[in-house]
Amino acid sequence: MACLAAGVAALLLATSAEAQVIASRIWPARDYTRLTIESKSEIKYEIFSVKDPERLVLDIETEMAPALSELDGKVAADDPYIKGLRVARNRPGVVRVVLDLKTEVKPQAFTLSPIAEYGHRLVLDIHPLVAADPLAELIAQGAAKPEAPAVPAPEKPAAVARLATIVIDAGHGGEDPGAIGKRGTREKNVTLMIAKRLKALIDAEPNMRALLTRDGDYFLPLNTRVDKARQVRADLLVSIHADSFKRSNARGSSVFALSERRATSEMARLLAQKENQSDLIGGVSLAGQASYVKQTLLDLSQTATIDYSLRLGNSVLQRLGAVGELHKARVEQASFAVLKAQDVPSILVETAFISNPQEEKRLNDRGYQDKLARALLDGIRDYVAKHPPRPGSPVALN
Ligand SMILES: [Zn+2]
Repeated sequence: MACLAAGVAALLLATSAEAQVIASRIWPARDYTRLTIESKSEIKYEIFSVKDPERLVLDIETEMAPALSELDGKVAADDPYIKGLRVARNRPGVVRVVLDLKTEVKPQAFTLSPIAEYGHRLVLDIHPLVAADPLAELIAQGAAKPEAPAVPAPEKPAAVARLATIVIDAGHGGEDPGAIGKRGTREKNVTLMIAKRLKALIDAEPNMRALLTRDGDYFLPLNTRVDKARQVRADLLVSIHADSFKRSNARGSSVFALSERRATSEMARLLAQKENQSDLIGGVSLAGQASYVKQTLLDLSQTATIDYSLRLGNSVLQRLGAVGELHKARVEQASFAVLKAQDVPSILVETAFISNPQEEKRLNDRGYQDKLARALLDGIRDYVAKHPPRPGSPVALN
């Protein structure tokens, strides 16, 4: 036991009742792997790091439950951080989870209060010591890009093509399923499928390249999505969604930009409110709470960015209108946290209403997903043709 005292990062929460564990989940991803333990009441826990070999020890004040013993079977072979996991009763009222790690990590544990479909949650996020750099990823991708513009002829040095960097954000993910249709379609899955199709289409364009904020089923806080776009100095960001509305006959695509003040319609306001709840449902530690959500004062550069966002939104809306029905014929505005990158024109596209049974069916159709992705590509292409990439972009010249 003495060795366990090394590198102790003990976090204790004051609760008396023993928490009954009702579910456990692991969300592996390159960004970070998350382990969630859901219980009927708040969980009291302690976490230790142990070296040689690298391990994390999580002591939970609870009795053994099927939802806990199932955990070891849930570690994916390709989990970037967890090699294996053991769960055993340590002493009366305490269950110990030992995680064998593949590498040294930066753990972060916190609890979440019940929200939406979830009870109390204990979350253990296993981050890499050094976070992956999206810019490096993009440059590596660019190096492998066969369509990269050829070296210009010597007599025309100014004709070097610039690659526009498009950040595609698949809404929701992991613990946050987003809206759920009557047939059980989850928004987070539909958004990822459309995002991946759009990325493939953009990467095939000679003057553009795309970066996905997430490429798997895991949760990303809204500010992390914004940060990724800023880190690569994106030329634009498109956040893809398929939301629900209380009236199941609501239908058609909508496009949103950030609003400096109030929302342009009650529905836009409600949607922004719901989207901004993503962090609460998906689970973000208070310590890492972003300022974007609370940000209320916008400066002049943001005003200019919103103007470009509206132009981008209009281009995309026109193309969406050409392939399907529109919910609103103009770009709407509200205070969406994911659109708050101060210097990156950003839009949120609600591709269709997952709450509308007909549209839910279509959203699962590959042909329809492709049609949506192509319309998004066309809209982006129209915008980029009018607003070429900024010279300041570190990846624009290639
Ligand atoms: Zn959404």
